[in-house]
Amino acid sequence: MQFGYSETCLDHDTGPRHPETADRLRAIRRGLAKRHGVEYVDAPPAEKSTVAAVHDDSYVDEFHDFCSDGGGNWDPDTVAVEASWDAALTAAGLAEWAARAALDGDDGRDTPFSLGRPPGHHAVEDDAMGFCFFNNAAVAAQAVIDDGLAERVAIFDWDVHHGNGTQDIFYDRGDVFYTSIHEDGLYPGTGEVEETGEGDGEGSTLNVPLRAGAGDADYVYSFDEAIAPAVERFDPDLFIVSAGFDAHRHDPISRMRVSTEGYAMLTECVQDLCAATDAAIAFVLEGGYGLDTLSEGVATVHETFDGRIAMEPDEDPDEKNVELVDDVRAAHGLGAK
Ligand SMILES: [Zn+2]
Repeated sequence: MQFGYSETCLDHDTGPRHPETADRLRAIRRGLAKRHGVEYVDAPPAEKSTVAAVHDDSYVDEFHDFCSDGGGNWDPDTVAVEASWDAALTAAGLAEWAARAALDGDDGRDTPFSLGRPPGHHAVEDDAMGFCFFNNAAVAAQAVIDDGLAERVAIFDWDVHHGNGTQDIFYDRGDVFYTSIHEDGLYPGTGEVEETGEGDGEGSTLNVPLRAGAGDADYVYSFDEAIAPAVERFDPDLFIVSAGFDAHRHDPISRMRVSTEGYAMLTECVQDLCAATDAAIAFVLEGGYGLDTLSEGVATVHETFDGRIAMEPDEDPDEKNVELVDDVRAAHGLGAK
């Protein structure tokens, strides 16, 4: 894969006791150093106007001034320093690079994956939250739509948390499909099956809030039976994966049980769907707080694009999750299984 990476993202210093640190990117780089076929690409920071296409101007200015004044706690979880402004613009710029590269034809072993931080999927139009300031995936999707490079974009969020920000930004839009598999009841508490979009966006938000303890089989089943048919119907030009790795069984902040191999399975699911819909693929880093599981997860996605074949889930999906997927199918007019 091609990895979008910039040293500027290391300067977003969240302090010694925060889970979202620059060590995450260092761990990913160490993990990739042992792999074949890894390429790094630096990208310019996003323009302020590109970020403001999905965020309110007044919020963007407020965050700029907050950083200029030295930063601090935006909220109890979400902290910034002076350098966070440049880091946030750079993370958004890397995501934008990934989307443009994918639409430019970079696929297979050249598939782009942006390794930016701060992460983005909790950032809403007018506020930072959950370690996120600019919604990197949303900025990328909007940028390629505004430039006429894509008419329809799907964003699949496999981070263990619901990407409330991405959902909100595109909730009434028919040209961006947002879909998430996340742990029910975890921060930020959104992402119910009934949240399906509104207005022109009715039907273009699809949530699968799995029960705590869900593993590889539940994730693959949710993707194959709910997400894939809905995305196929939507028929995107570009498919962005909001790739967090905090659903891993050894991640310190969730109770899900996805294995490292599970990320290979999900990557294959994405590849198969995008082959069927002829959609370009771009990855954008979100969360993931176990340094080893995060770096192994990213490396496993890379290896899957480098030709490694994923194993099959070694168990059946949980009955309750199968029922949940039935509910999701019903909410989206996909018919009974
Ligand atoms: Zn997360």
